[in-house]
Amino acid sequence: MKQKSFNCIRVSSRALQHNYNIIKDLAGANVPVMAMVKADAYGHGMVMAAQAFAGAGCKNFGVAELREAAILREASIQGAIYVTLGFLPEDVGLIFHYDLIPVIYDFATARLLADKAMALGQEIGVHIKVDSGMSRLGLLPDEIPAFLAGLETLPGLRIAGMMSHFPEADVSGSASTARGYQIFSEVCREVKSRFGGICHIANSGAVLSFPASFCDMVRSGISLYGYHPAGRSAGVIKDALNLIPAMSFVTRVVQVKTFPAGSGVSYGHTYRAEEPITLAVLPVGYEDGFSRLFSNRGQVLIHGQRVPVRGRVCMNMCMVDVTGMENVRAGDEVVMMGRQGNECISAEELAERMASISYEVLCLIGNNNQREYIE
Ligand SMILES: *Cc1c(COP(=O)(O)O)cnc(C)c1O
Repeated sequence: MKQKSFNCIRVSSRALQHNYNIIKDLAGANVPVMAMVKADAYGHGMVMAAQAFAGAGCKNFGVAELREAAILREASIQGAIYVTLGFLPEDVGLIFHYDLIPVIYDFATARLLADKAMALGQEIGVHIKVDSGMSRLGLLPDEIPAFLAGLETLPGLRIAGMMSHFPEADVSGSASTARGYQIFSEVCREVKSRFGGICHIANSGAVLSFPASFCDMVRSGISLYGYHPAGRSAGVIKDALNLIPAMSFVTRVVQVKTFPAGSGVSYGHTYRAEEPITLAVLPVGYEDGFSRLFSNRGQVLIHGQRVPVRGRVCMNMCMVDVTGMENVRAGDEVVMMGRQGNECISAEELAERMASISYEVLCLIGNNNQREYIE
């Protein structure tokens, strides 16, 4: 679609590369960084983001499902692509066709891959997902020995790695992180001594605060997009890191009107003006990822100034209070997220207003609007 919307997500490839370089420096020369580009690169546009990271030297990419990996390959992204969540049995051939690295957590999938590999006269390298305390996807540590014994009966399949995930790596010094790492490293020691391969567990939180867990590779998501996993509570540490948020969300005013005192605003009249009020109507609503939770509590930037959302956020519109501001007109630029003049609204600020995290805000806003890549 070529026609443009009023609303535009701007993504800076330079910011993505800057952040990649920071994480790469923290990981060190011998530890590659897997760029997590699932969820359309946390709303930043998967192919463009992967190209930006590749341009900065990244050779490992992580997605959730096979269809995302296929899109990356169709866009000529080189290097290793890890499918961390899985694939439908009928798509097993595409793992080979696109030269992907499947992460497995059950024997049925292992057998399916092995059979396909044999049929093609190839070998498939897999990574095994271990659940070391997340209580989510993966094999529990005590299931591993039997699983490995099963894999040894499958010619065509090679154990190329082990991975796990931390539930609380953004909480510095958390006991679950140390414990999870200990459990994982015991499994890794055993598997590596028998089969070789690489191990990886560190997400952004661990990259930033638990260097002992780097193993053979780290997997970074949120930090590459410019945010600290702990949000604004990360405070000083975060400032010292100098990550740059890559995404901003701009729109423009579509109408400005003044109403008398006593006027109710938007559905349900949940805001009532006590004095005469001037409202700017914005073409942004919850369908654009600007949550209805911002009703009567969001803020946006117009002419470099913070102005409040009045009344409920509608499906594709919302109203902001520009009473007393000079010269606000239809067509003026509005920043929903990002910087304008000396003011800045971060994904973290929006997240706090909706009792969520920057990750969700980036996905919501990024994946529901047109994107434009800038330098
Ligand atoms: C998304 C994801 C990551 C990245 O997590 P961040 O907190 O964004 O760094 C790492 N590993 C796996 C398996 C993931 O799914």
